[in-house]
Amino acid sequence: MRATFARLQAAYPDAHCELDHGSPFQLLVATILSAQSTDVGVNKVTPALFARWPDAPSLAAATLPEVERAIGSLGMFRQKAKRLVEMSRLLIERHGGEVPRRLEELVALPGVGRKTANVVLGVCWNAPEGVVVDTHVQRLAQRLGWSTHDEPIAIEQDLMKLLPREAWDTLSHVLIFHGRRTCGARKPACERCPVSDVCPSAFEAERVGRKPTRVRGA
Ligand code: SF4
Repeated sequence: MRATFARLQAAYPDAHCELDHGSPFQLLVATILSAQSTDVGVNKVTPALFARWPDAPSLAAATLPEVERAIGSLGMFRQKAKRLVEMSRLLIERHGGEVPRRLEELVALPGVGRKTANVVLGVCWNAPEGVVVDTHVQRLAQRLGWSTHDEPIAIEQDLMKLLPREAWDTLSHVLIFHGRRTCGARKPACERCPVSDVCPSAFEAERVGRKPTRVRGA
């Protein structure tokens, strides 16, 4: 596994979090916004959002309709606006406006789950308490044979055993880059994949790690 990961790492040396941000607080906001939305979509709204409300004190003082308007192009924007304002208020109340560095404190904030918390801990301080398993990481872990599980929590546990903690953040970014650029859900480009010679799903991956098709009315 480590040799395969090293080859993927070499293929994507600039793999990084693709959510634009200028501080831990802004990354926390962008990650909350990214639920059910693409990074590209989030990066379209955050420049204006962060120009107006760059930190917890300013966003805590914003009104809901203002924030809703600023993020209105994203899915679940009303719910997300509420979470952002509440989260900012709690950051001030509990942490002096700073983003905490402990998972338990992060997940106690509105809109912050284990995945969001580990994005922030990993990207800002390279101190994640787990591996971020999004849809790409989930699919790739299955295709590469690094996990036989379907559920993100179980996949995360498998990945955590394969590499040391200092590699967890990079592991997620490399797999997300590979998933976005080469090993797509519908059409994995196995013919130009740098690890096709060792991938157990090579050239038959379309059916591995894909979410089942929704049946109308089911
Ligand atoms: S060989 Fe195909 S399925 Fe395997 S990692 Fe590469 S692109 Fe994905």
